[in-house]
Amino acid sequence: MGRLLKCAAVLAGIAIFASLAQAAAPPRPVDGARIANADSEPGQWLSIGRTYDEQRHSPLKQITTANVKNLGLAWYADLGSVRGVEASPLMVDGVLYVTQPWNITTAYDARTGKVLWKYDPKVPVKYARIACCDIDARGLAAWKGKIIQATLDGRLIALNARTGKVIWSVQTLDEGTPWAYTVTGSPRVFDGKVLIGNAGAEAAAPGYLTAYDAETGKKAWRFHVVPPNPNTTKLTKAEEMAAKTWKGEWWKIGGGGTPWDSIVYDPVAKLVYVGTGNGGPYNQVFRSPGGGDNLFLASVVALKVENGDYVWHYQETPGDQWDYTSTQPIMLADLQIGGRLRKVAMHAPKNGFFYVIDRLTGELISAEKYAPVTWAERIDLKTGRPVENPISRYGTTPISISPGRGGAHNWHPMAYNPAAGLVYFPVTFSADIYAYDPNFKQVPGGIIQTGSHQSNMPEVRAQLRAVMPKPQNYLVAWDPVKQKEAWRVNYQRNGSGGLLSTAGNLVFQGTADTTLAAYRADTGAKVWEMPVQQVPIAAPISYMLDGVQYIAVAAGYGGGRAEMAYNTVEPDVAEYGRLLVFKLGGKAVLPKVTIANPTLEPPPRLTGSVDDVLVGGELYAKTCSGCHGDEARGGLKDLRRMSAQTHKDFQNIVIGGARKERGMLSFADVLTPAQAENIHRFLIKRINDDWIELKNAK
Ligand code: CA
Repeated sequence: MGRLLKCAAVLAGIAIFASLAQAAAPPRPVDGARIANADSEPGQWLSIGRTYDEQRHSPLKQITTANVKNLGLAWYADLGSVRGVEASPLMVDGVLYVTQPWNITTAYDARTGKVLWKYDPKVPVKYARIACCDIDARGLAAWKGKIIQATLDGRLIALNARTGKVIWSVQTLDEGTPWAYTVTGSPRVFDGKVLIGNAGAEAAAPGYLTAYDAETGKKAWRFHVVPPNPNTTKLTKAEEMAAKTWKGEWWKIGGGGTPWDSIVYDPVAKLVYVGTGNGGPYNQVFRSPGGGDNLFLASVVALKVENGDYVWHYQETPGDQWDYTSTQPIMLADLQIGGRLRKVAMHAPKNGFFYVIDRLTGELISAEKYAPVTWAERIDLKTGRPVENPISRYGTTPISISPGRGGAHNWHPMAYNPAAGLVYFPVTFSADIYAYDPNFKQVPGGIIQTGSHQSNMPEVRAQLRAVMPKPQNYLVAWDPVKQKEAWRVNYQRNGSGGLLSTAGNLVFQGTADTTLAAYRADTGAKVWEMPVQQVPIAAPISYMLDGVQYIAVAAGYGGGRAEMAYNTVEPDVAEYGRLLVFKLGGKAVLPKVTIANPTLEPPPRLTGSVDDVLVGGELYAKTCSGCHGDEARGGLKDLRRMSAQTHKDFQNIVIGGARKERGMLSFADVLTPAQAENIHRFLIKRINDDWIELKNAK
């Protein structure tokens, strides 16, 4: 290049730089002050719940109850993902960041959908078999030019927000422990620290929450949900208090309690609130023989942000034995209750009670059933403890208890509309069957360890199911001050998604009818609905650019709720997940795509004896039910709807690993081909049993 030309190029570069600088001042980095003042920039969505209180309420009001009928698709992007998409996007300074199954994270131009970068952390496929409830990722955190994500295999990774290049990466799971951990939650950044928990209570893995320096990834502090072995570890004061509530050698059997989702922050009180997981094994007899509350399982725990020191806890399900996690989204608000302004945390955990807790002291203000509940009569406000139904601590006789293991409310984000004074969340009225399993043996590293016979007694289940209440699925609007339901929207099918509230008096929800719907926040009247070929189970967000308000949702059916869908037929959803972005007057059209559930095809003829089918059923319960549902009803992939080709390929898939890229790994390490054949026989029998029902379902 000649000197003159070079000079011209430099000048042109300066000119371009100057015009860019004029067009847009470089955005301020996302930091604590910016998130704490999120209401001053309502067009952005800077953190997972938009604000630190995670109310998921957008102050934008261009879209109203009057004009929402004109809402249409602005643009969409194929994610190319199969399985559940649970993450809400972030929208920071014109860029939309989305993470999807296998923790693949993509940055899009939020106006046009143009891909700016994509990052694949290459999570080993084996984690699909370790995860209890799908290969989920629930979100991202933005911090000072970085996008921070957690991966299924336990890494915390900080990416350059402009380029997607790795800045730092740290493994958050202790190596050398026998426990089958995964990480599915969204990291949060508070006070310059990134916080992340873990999952694995189904495998009895003892949970912990860890904080890292957001700039370097250096570990800052860790809080153990289950106290460590007091013989080998010097316990903190809080751990000593917790250890008194356990019996036997709990550290050998794990204990569970993994805090896999909710972590929220009060920047004024400088307190972090974490929701903890269920007991593992489920049946307390095995993890703490003789009882006890087993702190800090199934609790909301408040910790000091600077060092992780314990401040208070409120245990929602003392001595849990029904898989009642308290990991469900915690939401903060300031409410007028009894003539006083109370700083509260609101919570609708799996166990069916809606709790309002003083977030400064941990005092229980109120608790009422938001769904039919049989394990407890009520919560005693004097003691703060549940008044349990004595038969719910099950023995060898199987009994049906509500809610079931999937919970009356699971991970789906709640939203709060301050004008209506209502909290919105999806409810499933469910029951499960529990009984003491006399043959239970602890297998450290095993994946599903319950100690209760809830899924491997098909005959008993069938008998009890016949007398169990019919499941109901609905969106509820809950008044947290009056502690009662304001309105509900019923759904025929299980599995509708998380919520967004907007100042346009609207709430948005993906529905199990494969639509995105909008309801009036005050009355629940449906004001808009659009078919989207998917169930958007994640919560939508809203943002504004160039004076245009958008609604965005990443859509892909799956997750734990889908696995628990024993009682319904799976929705016919598009084979791949998509990112969907809407605006008023949007005219984009979704192309028709292949449906994941193919046309129902009759199964091959059943061969083998009654015993083969029974043996196959027991193997199914141990090996397959975690992902494919109890009794093969629903689940991640409804096996009653296998195509003729899948039946032919059964051995290739189960033993040969022919579908490992989709997360269906080979089970050759735990099943012989003959055992796989018996599982196949059990499934063929199941299809025949349900044939009329399957044919009559849409
Ligand atoms: Ca669980």
